[in-house]
Amino acid sequence: MVILKRVKDIQEYLDSKRLAGVQIGFVPTMGALHDGHISLVQKCNDDGMLSVCSIFLNPTQFNDKSDLAKYPVSIDGDIELLLRAGCHVLFLPDVEDIYPDGEAQMPTFDFGYLENILEGASRPGHFKGVGQVVARLLSIVQPHNLYLGRKDYQQCLVIRRLIDILGLNETKVIICPTRREPDGLAMSSRNRRLTEPQRTIAGTIYQCLVSMQTKSESGKFALVRKECEELLVAKGFVPEYIALANARDLSLLEDYTSTVPMIALITARIGNIRLIDNMLIGN
Ligand code: AMP
Repeated sequence: MVILKRVKDIQEYLDSKRLAGVQIGFVPTMGALHDGHISLVQKCNDDGMLSVCSIFLNPTQFNDKSDLAKYPVSIDGDIELLLRAGCHVLFLPDVEDIYPDGEAQMPTFDFGYLENILEGASRPGHFKGVGQVVARLLSIVQPHNLYLGRKDYQQCLVIRRLIDILGLNETKVIICPTRREPDGLAMSSRNRRLTEPQRTIAGTIYQCLVSMQTKSESGKFALVRKECEELLVAKGFVPEYIALANARDLSLLEDYTSTVPMIALITARIGNIRLIDNMLIGN
């Protein structure tokens, strides 16, 4: 695996590969890697791409700076996992490489409705930061394929929109399934911060999503939502949202419907750890 830190170096390296006809697949991450991230690298390799993974803890997408300060960092372990997965290139820039003229000088993008609901409502400015960093990373890596995890579903829609805004019609977005622990908990860098008792109950979010999915044929969403909320609270969570939405555009749904593909979405806190997950329904 080639490890490159400077923008100029990765651009030169990838330019030569592109000229040689190599297809480039890109997996942007914030590090503290787990099997979910690695599954994106594996998919990229399976697709016959030169896999480029970036690790960059982007300050501009953290509206809560204490969340940024607590974000786990494990670069040696990350490199080990990427080596084992057969990743070809690791891009490891500093903040100065990504924002050479300062964060304020970077363009921001308007994602409209998508940036103000659900995660956007809970984390004001978050998707502005995501748009900034992904636009910058895409301009550096210029991938043929971009690999994203469905776990961050709203982020996938935001990045698709960003690619439209940037006119990158050639860049194909590949959305990969969520990797889970045996009890259903979606793998996440933040899971490392769960204490043993918190970890024991963390799978409840998945149980709620399964119940939101299985009751879609017969249930009333308002009732199912209430049951899930009560269960989460009883276990010690503070739910931020439990929502049902149109999977195409994330417009919120009052009740189950057969007219559009649906997605159930939950974000809840245990202590000061924020867990987010979702499940497609009837697709
Ligand atoms: P992050 O490092 O959290 O920014 O995530 C980097 C990429 O990995 C994003 O596209 C995430 O959606 C994806 N990802 C995170 N967790 C998982 C998971 N459990 N399964 C699949 N992809 C994931």
